[in-house]
Amino acid sequence: MDWKTTPFAFYLSSISLVLAAVICFKTSKLHNKKPYHWAFFLTAATTVVWNASVLIAYLFYRNRMPQFVGMSFIGIIITPPALFLTAWYYANPDKPFRLRHLSVFLLPLFSALVAFTNQEHHLLLVNHSFYHKENTYGPYFAIHALYSFTLVFIALYLFFSFTRKSAGFISRQTKILLLGFSIPIIENLVITMQILPTNMLHNSIGFTISMVAVWYAIVAYDFLDVTPLAFHTVMDHISNGILILSRKNQIVNYNKYLLQMLGIKQVKENEWNIFDYTKRLGISRTTVIEAIMRAIKEQRTISAVRRFTSDSIDKYLEVQITPLFSGREHRGTVILLNDITELKKAIEELTHKNKEIEILNQQLKNLAETDSLTGAYNRRFFDEYYKIEAQRALSRNRFTNNPHASPDFGLAIIDIDNFKKINDSWGHLAGDEVLRTLVELIKANIFGRDVVCRYGGEEFAVIFTNTNEEGLTLAAEKIRIKIAETPFRIGSQEEPLYITVSIGIAFFDREYTEETLTELIAIADERLYCAKRTGKNRVIGRVAQS
Ligand code: GH3
Ligand code: MG
Ligand code: MG
Repeated sequence: MDWKTTPFAFYLSSISLVLAAVICFKTSKLHNKKPYHWAFFLTAATTVVWNASVLIAYLFYRNRMPQFVGMSFIGIIITPPALFLTAWYYANPDKPFRLRHLSVFLLPLFSALVAFTNQEHHLLLVNHSFYHKENTYGPYFAIHALYSFTLVFIALYLFFSFTRKSAGFISRQTKILLLGFSIPIIENLVITMQILPTNMLHNSIGFTISMVAVWYAIVAYDFLDVTPLAFHTVMDHISNGILILSRKNQIVNYNKYLLQMLGIKQVKENEWNIFDYTKRLGISRTTVIEAIMRAIKEQRTISAVRRFTSDSIDKYLEVQITPLFSGREHRGTVILLNDITELKKAIEELTHKNKEIEILNQQLKNLAETDSLTGAYNRRFFDEYYKIEAQRALSRNRFTNNPHASPDFGLAIIDIDNFKKINDSWGHLAGDEVLRTLVELIKANIFGRDVVCRYGGEEFAVIFTNTNEEGLTLAAEKIRIKIAETPFRIGSQEEPLYITVSIGIAFFDREYTEETLTELIAIADERLYCAKRTGKNRVIGRVAQS
């Protein structure tokens, strides 16, 4: 072979052969091959045969063309239906392989038979030359050409409409496919119509470019591998934003709702990077990378809730990052964005309501337990609380074997001396004010654990715990002195008022039983009257009584 005069097309065809072979090999290595992968593999394989056959034809059979019609026609005949099947399975990913689908090869097989036996009948080519212009077509050629071109056009249409119809499918991919298909279509039209001085070396170059385009669409964007194509329609109807990333974190796909959420019409090419989007949501580049890396490393979905502001409205976004694996190999990532603002609002409202209910309940409880005039606990509360504390003291006594373990529970009943007089000379409202101030005064002079109750009109009961009889006496005495010393200021009256109280105290001791629990109150009451009888303004306990 004379390399100097070797046409440029020979080199192009050789490159085509290598490319087609590489693509064929790579396709065979794909995991989890689906029908469109197999169809694509077949297309690539026939392109290899096609390229090889024209090169062999050029090198060895240039002058003996008739013998070679059959072989060189294998690619020409088989490639279009194989490509058609690739496009069809790709556009109908939920359709499984069926034997009847191979019926697209029936006519081409017959065409191959015609090609191999052309010498006998010349139905395909009357005269076959290395140079297309010298070809004279037989009557069968029209049938073959019409069938092949129709299939290629349909394949182009299927690829094209499928990529266009789904919102997120990127326009770049459509462009690649369109370009990839236009070249062999134009080239083969030119060849068939014998417009330019083409030769057999030109035949398969265009199809190889087509192969590269389809391959690029499949692999460079992880298009078919990553996206479960069957779900593309569902994706657009779902009210979650969906973003699919390739393993290089490039956006391979997204759905309509995502655009709506982000308030953009389309993904522009210069916004190709995911971080342009996350920035809008106030999520930094490192946060996204770290989250994706962690999801991949831990092979699990990672989710987080983010707050961001859109149109000066606070919004909540739930972000779910799910890595996609094919076997052990990471193939891409799915990011689900869920606008949970409404949900958050509903939860917040509910929490708020619950809190309100809690406060209301507390208020109701307080109302039921406290005396509205003085803020001290009321008689009802006293009865309940007394029972509980008395029971506790009782069981404490019962279960403590130590004879020195003293009871710790006592009671003081306080009654204002000559209160009627205060009412009479200062008025009832002044009397009320005295009662309020008195409660404050008592509260200020007891421990937090001790409880003041309004026992009757101007009688108060204080329940003391964690104390002994001596402590109780001291506490009561302290209250009495404090009250006697404190000037009570009534309204705008300049003259302060001094009051005194009488107090009867009783301490729980070991002799009490379940039946005699309330006797303690009666005893305290009795001692109070004793204090009144013996001159008022005093505390009477066990010692004074005896
Ligand atoms: P003693 O020293 O014997 O206790 O004399 P006293 O005048 O305080 O007599 P007693 O304890 O029997 O008086 C109760 C008086 O308390 C009767 C009533 O006018 C007055 N009182 C009871 N509840 C209220 C109240 O809510 N407000 C006012 N202002 N006075 C009340
Ligand atoms: Mg009184
Ligand atoms: Mg009284």
